[in-house]
Amino acid sequence: MKRKASYDIVVVGAGPAGSTAARVAGENGAKVLLLEKRSQVGSPVQCAEHIPEALVHHVNIQPEHIAQPVSALETYLPNGDVHIMPARGYILHRNAFDKYLAVSANKAGAHLWVGARALRPSSDGLIVIHQSEEKEIGAKIIIGADGPGSTVGHWMDQVNQDFLVAAQVEVVLDKPIETAKIYFHSDYVHGYGWVFPKGTTANIGVGLSAGIIGSSQKILDRFLKRLGYGRERVVSQTAGIIPVGGPLKSTCSDRYLLVGDAAGQTHSITGAGIANAILCGEMAGRAAAKTIQTGNRRLLGDYEKEWRTYLGRSLQRAVNNRQYQKTMWTNDQAALSALIQETWIAFPNYTREKAKN
Ligand SMILES: Cc1cc2nc3c(=O)[nH]c(=O)nc-3n(C[C@H](O)[C@H](O)[C@H](O)COP(=O)(O)OP(=O)(O)OC[C@H]3O[C@@H](n4cnc5c(N)ncnc54)[C@H](O)[C@@H]3O)c2cc1C
Repeated sequence: MKRKASYDIVVVGAGPAGSTAARVAGENGAKVLLLEKRSQVGSPVQCAEHIPEALVHHVNIQPEHIAQPVSALETYLPNGDVHIMPARGYILHRNAFDKYLAVSANKAGAHLWVGARALRPSSDGLIVIHQSEEKEIGAKIIIGADGPGSTVGHWMDQVNQDFLVAAQVEVVLDKPIETAKIYFHSDYVHGYGWVFPKGTTANIGVGLSAGIIGSSQKILDRFLKRLGYGRERVVSQTAGIIPVGGPLKSTCSDRYLLVGDAAGQTHSITGAGIANAILCGEMAGRAAAKTIQTGNRRLLGDYEKEWRTYLGRSLQRAVNNRQYQKTMWTNDQAALSALIQETWIAFPNYTREKAKN
């Protein structure tokens, strides 16, 4: 096979993690290639599109990326209680947002190949399939930002094991909603249902532990019925998996970095991963570019140290709460309500140390 190109850094996956890593590495002088297996960056959307307001400190979010701001998080417990927590955020147009992040990477000098899937490692880079042809690309460093079932993760023997299976529809609303809403029920096993408004529509979905008997689509239909919506209001549907087992043991070797969902940096209780993908993407891009500048491969390890210092404790707390929730999950709606008050982020007891089970 002929060598087609050679780069300092190849980033696999143009989601929020990969595009951010590619942008930051490009800004820091590295020769970068960003690969995306889909033919269009950001599409199809497999996300409920909620981000915290604080993310504006890391990304120059444009008005056209925002479907709607939200002012609070409402939690609906199985026993009928409702808890309201002020929490400013945005529901995005994620396809436009992801495209913008990839455009920013390209403007920072990163080359972009869409329709290019990373297949396997080679002696000094990787093999991709692009335009129906296998190509070898030279790469001093490879950043795996290729989502929950990461191919690069498999090369490192570091793969996510615990997932939520999510199903979602976008539904036409009767009237606008101003808050993000979360619903707990014994049906949504180890997960929850959500309603995230987008002006005239809302993303309505459920996430439940992978391997649970009963399809997420049927459970979503029951959730819609409880909310008073029928399938005749659905304008689009999507599904996906969310890694919720917590960070992988190692996200760094002397050649590879893992970032975002590929690294298990998603929050184990909320399933939110956009913000962490962007924060950790910045760190990965910086560490990779510094390694190229200095030729000192040990500097790749700065990435792992930095993100664990910044996020490690809060992600571990989420893992502990998820483990506790899984062990104590019950079909008794009163007992489940009490459990959610122990383990969901909106309640003060979320931060309480959980007994090891
Ligand atoms: C239904 C659902 C709802 C969600 N809702 C929210 C939410 O409201 N808020 C939130 O913060 N998070 C949410 N998440 C999680 C969020 O979508 C992820 O955490 C986030 O997308 C992680 O970004 P990433 O860049 O790490 O991975 P991804 O966004 O998954 O990007 C990975 C990219 O890599 C590409 N790729 C994969 N393999 C290869 C390969 N071999 N070669 C080349 N390219 C490859 C993929 O096509 C993809 O574009 C949700 C997830 C799901 C499934």
